Formats: sequence, structure tokens, C-alpha cells
Amino acid sequence: MKKLNFLTAGIPARANDYGNAFFVLENMNLDGLEVEFVHGVRYSEKTREAILNRGDFLITHHGPYYINLNAKEQDKKEASIKRVLDTARAAADLGAYSITYHAAFYLGEDSDTVTKKMIDIHKIITEILDKENISVWVRPETTGKKSQWGTLDEIIELSKNFDKILPCVDFAHIHARENGKFNTYDEFCFILEKLGNELGQKAINNFHGHVAGIEYGLKGEKKHLIFEESDFNYKDLIKAFKEFDVKGALVCESPNIEIDTKILKDYYEGL
Ligand SMILES: [Zn+2]
Repeated sequence: MKKLNFLTAGIPARANDYGNAFFVLENMNLDGLEVEFVHGVRYSEKTREAILNRGDFLITHHGPYYINLNAKEQDKKEASIKRVLDTARAAADLGAYSITYHAAFYLGEDSDTVTKKMIDIHKIITEILDKENISVWVRPETTGKKSQWGTLDEIIELSKNFDKILPCVDFAHIHARENGKFNTYDEFCFILEKLGNELGQKAINNFHGHVAGIEYGLKGEKKHLIFEESDFNYKDLIKAFKEFDVKGALVCESPNIEIDTKILKDYYEGL
């Protein structure tokens, strides 16, 4: 990637469809959006055309919420694998840069056991994508709830086994899951440094992450908030991004969508 791109999570609030979305992004000088396949990987021909005619805007994909690659029932596990594959197939169809999804729940198993299972399942996923000639960054997201597999360390461990798998770093989730930690300049630098050290410069040059204000409790994330109503220290995060010269996509998931995305980009450009 040539630069850091600022993306909205889904269609901007003031747009009503994808055709309109890219006009809004253009007017606001934003860089793209994350297509959210919340309830399944489906899109109309009209949406497809609008996305394919987006010009220079960058897109990423968020896979459906109903994914649990550690499901005990074989049919649920297979349906989850298919949802990841379909998200990657949509990326190939629409020209998305990267896909992300919430990979799994522990369901009473320990971190090492589930990480090993995730490595095996992602071997299956990447082999199928290779066969289909689909080359897109595949990224389990760092998760916000303690019941979910997906700490930064777990996803780094997984990524080490693959060329095209990297973490999608959700800073709000990490902050919520760690009960308010990871909210200072030094802590943000620690995360970026760890990515570079453990996965190489490709992780910094091809970044994909999420950020938002967030409400949290003892079990981790509760809900997303706008920056103004949250304790999330986005300014120091953006300073760390500048310091490490991170390139790729930073997707803002605040409920006011384009407003907080614009705040991030303006702050970045003002540094
Ligand atoms: Zn997510």
C-alpha cells in the first residue's frame, strides 16, 4: 500500500446506497469503505456495479457475524468456513484489498488448543482460495469479548504460518478486552512494534485495522460509541500510526460513521 487510507465501516450515514456512498466519501475527502456482510455474503447487481465503478476508492470486507470456526457441530463449522470463503470470493469479485471476520469462540477450551485448531482450519481455507486463484489478505480480527478467541498474540501466532494471513487489529476491542489498557501512545507503539517484529514489515505496510469509541465492562466490549462520548485516545493512536508510517486501511466503526472517520483523517493530516 502506498499510504494510510481512512475508511468508513459501511455506507456513510448520509448516503442511502453504494452509488451515493462514494459521492459522500469524495466530498469528505475520505478514502473508501468496508463492505459489511453482516447477515450473509449477498449483494445485488446494482450494488456490484456501484462498487466496481468506485474509481480509486479502497474497499475491504467484513464477514458475517455468524462465524465460529471452533463450533462443536460439524455443520456449523462447515457453514462458518463457507462464510469466510464467500467473503474472500466477494473480495475477488469486487476488488477488495482485505477481508476480516471474528473467527471463533473458545467454548471452554484453552487458548493453545483453539489456536492449533485455527491453524488447521486456516490451512483448509487458504488451500481452497489458492485453488480458486484468489489472492486477498485474510484477517481474523482481534476480538472484544473474553469469550472469543482472538487476542493479538493468538492471531499473530496463527499468521506466522501463512503468507496471506495477518491480524485485523481492532484497537477498540483490545482496549475493551483489556479493561481500559492499550490507550496510550506507548501502548499503541507497543502493538505496532510487535506486529513489525513478529510478522515483518509487510504487516505495517499492508495494515488493516478498526477503531471506534467503545463502552466496556469486565467481560470486555459492550457497544461502540462516538469518540466524543468515549475514553478512547484516538489522537495518540494516530500519532503512533504516523510515527510507524503505517500504510493500508484504518476503518472507523463509530456509530456516527463518516464523522469520526473524518476526525481521524483530519487529525492525521494535521500532524
Ligand atoms: Zn468486527
